[in-house]
Amino acid sequence: MSRSSSLVTVGPERAPLHCLVCRGQLFRDRQIKLDTMEWLARYGTALICDRCSFVHTFAGGAVELWDPDKGYPF
Ligand SMILES: [Zn+2]
Repeated sequence: MSRSSSLVTVGPERAPLHCLVCRGQLFRDRQIKLDTMEWLARYGTALICDRCSFVHTFAGGAVELWDPDKGYPF
């Protein structure tokens, strides 16, 4: 499955996610299994920074992906 990169917001407030390392705004997403964190959620989302490949991991379904051509929904 090859998808292009996305802008990402987190949580009901839709806070824009910036890479913790390079402040990049584009990420590729992967569904991951959280074997050692079953008290949180069975599956999570890994967001891989386009620019520096730093992986941001979310345990719940709080992330939303947006088409970079259209921008954030606000
Ligand atoms: Zn980065």
